Amino acid sequence: MDEFELIGRYFSGRGAARADVTLGVGDDAALLQVPAGAELVAAVDSIVAGRHFPVDSDARSVGHRALAVNLSDVAAMGATPAWATLALTLPDADPAWLEGFAAGFSELAARHGVALVGGDTTSGPLAVSVQILGYVPRGTALLRSGAHAGDLLAVTGTLGDAGAGLALATRALGAADSAAAHELVRRFEYPTPRVEFGLAARGIASAAMDLSDGLAGDLPKLAAASGVAAHVEVEHLPVSRALESSADPARRREWALSAGDDYELLLAVPPERLPALAARAAQLNLRLTTIGELRRGTGVKWSAHGAEIDIGVRGYDHFRRAST
Ligand code: ADP
Ligand code: MG
Repeated sequence: MDEFELIGRYFSGRGAARADVTLGVGDDAALLQVPAGAELVAAVDSIVAGRHFPVDSDARSVGHRALAVNLSDVAAMGATPAWATLALTLPDADPAWLEGFAAGFSELAARHGVALVGGDTTSGPLAVSVQILGYVPRGTALLRSGAHAGDLLAVTGTLGDAGAGLALATRALGAADSAAAHELVRRFEYPTPRVEFGLAARGIASAAMDLSDGLAGDLPKLAAASGVAAHVEVEHLPVSRALESSADPARRREWALSAGDDYELLLAVPPERLPALAARAAQLNLRLTTIGELRRGTGVKWSAHGAEIDIGVRGYDHFRRAST
């Protein structure tokens, strides 16, 4: 199979069919129609074998995650995802692997109305880069910088599952044979981007970001962008039953605080608008938990049962040096 057969077989006409795609896969570039009055939203995220996922991961999961991490960025902006391009670096053209990868990608793309409109295919160590494009009515995007002192902090879903799931998948955390363990591994392999909730939160939340590097790594970014201090009660962090039954309290708190890959949304919301936000979450059958508040000042303060604590953990950073 040569490169052009490969593209035609696995990546042509994938995802949703959209009327706003004038030209998709096949020419030198795609032509897309952005709705009048909208801003184009663009983001790109790469996942690299051995770095963001185990090298022996199921191909379907790799396809799903490559798109999910990008949909999560669009969700965090309160935007509608529409188009994607895919830059794929592959060690070899294994039909079974490509079939699984394309299925994982396409299924999630179709679910969110995203058309795959172009990309690039090269050979080399396995890495997947997806560029997502979407739109939002001009001036309405949810930014990290929109929060104010007095706003409450809320998160969707549960925290720490994907971190525990990755540890289980790589056998760093015992056997992965219980139902709870399977559930945690699934949360790593098939994250659910909160696209519908991001859209629903527009006009209600004052700020949002997605949690890709862990709350302890990501929350300081939102606080700094908004010029406020964040106060979080760690006893309030939402933890799943699956995680509760798989790890002791200290370990699960550490995962909920510092493990990445959950792709839940972190939102700031003025207290009087919390009921509206909670109602939107309830409509989507999505858990929404208030974990703290924003005050005047800088940085993040963590407390347990009302007493300030030093959590001693941070989020993931590719370029942080060990022991500096
Ligand atoms: P060019 O050399 O002009 O960049 P290519 O020959 O690499 O074009 O690609 C041919 C067409 O196939 C282009 O429309 C490109 O966007 C598309 N394409 C290539 N690889 C992929 C991929 N992995 N997924 C989706 N579309 C792809
Ligand atoms: Mg090319």
